[in-house]
Amino acid sequence: MQVRVLGSAAGGGFPQWNCGCANCRLARAADGRARPRTQESVAVSARGDEWFLLNASPEIRAQIESFAGLWPRAARHSPIAGLVLTNGDLDHCLGLLSLRESHPLVVYATAAVRDGFMRDNVLYRTLERFPGQLEWRTLALGQEQPLGDAAGGLTVTAVPAPGKLPLHLEGRRAPSPEDNVGFVIRDAAGGRRVAYLSGVAGPSPDVARAIAQADLTFFDGTFWSSDELIAAGLGTRRAEDMAHWPVGGAEGSLAFFQRTARPAGARAVYIHVNNTNPMLIEDSAERAAVRAGSLDVAEDGMELAL
Ligand SMILES: [Zn+2]
Ligand SMILES: [Zn+2]
Repeated sequence: MQVRVLGSAAGGGFPQWNCGCANCRLARAADGRARPRTQESVAVSARGDEWFLLNASPEIRAQIESFAGLWPRAARHSPIAGLVLTNGDLDHCLGLLSLRESHPLVVYATAAVRDGFMRDNVLYRTLERFPGQLEWRTLALGQEQPLGDAAGGLTVTAVPAPGKLPLHLEGRRAPSPEDNVGFVIRDAAGGRRVAYLSGVAGPSPDVARAIAQADLTFFDGTFWSSDELIAAGLGTRRAEDMAHWPVGGAEGSLAFFQRTARPAGARAVYIHVNNTNPMLIEDSAERAAVRAGSLDVAEDGMELAL
């Protein structure tokens, strides 16, 4: 399986347009210790011929252009065989509306995420200009199903992850376990597994099981600490209020990884990193702690093969 990180930042990107925090200032200064990042998306492929995008970021056009594997191979063509959505947050699905150039799209999502994107969304009509322009394939929790139509390719299993409704749907309907999922992507030929858990509010048995079986895990690296935004004077909400499990601290995800048995040689990489997170800075104590725990922080352009 081939894996390419297209974007590694949380919503807003790094630097974020309206943020002048210490990290964003360093990124704008082109300081090598703080590399800019676009909003989270990862491309996966069994053999490099067709690709699946995990999440559709607002920066999808530039992300596709950043990687030759995603370029057309004919006058009208795309090697992107499908897009897979973790939830309905705009930083994860707004990119769908940018793929409106009359090209058939296949999108995998739970029924809750699909309905949240389609219903009452007049902009969605731009993806309904001809029959079959956008084909939804419904992800049922815990059920492994093929990604794409090629035999011997990849499969996907949606893993319920603690999370919340997207901001624009809060108060419109009751939350559901389908609102926020991770994936286990399995290479049907080689049997290798990628766990993709870019938004996780806290521990759960399903999340622990996915990590314990994965050869490569992408994990929610949004915030280092609960009060990161509050301490920096940038907000009033704690990480947990925004459905993100902090990386640091005794109860943080980094400590959780140290306690969790994983396959020999398994890797884990933090992704969806908020611009305020100190582990973005390469010579920070927080980055050193991530390294000491044998985890990495994802960067745009990172490639992993397994
Ligand atoms: Zn996000
Ligand atoms: Zn910032």
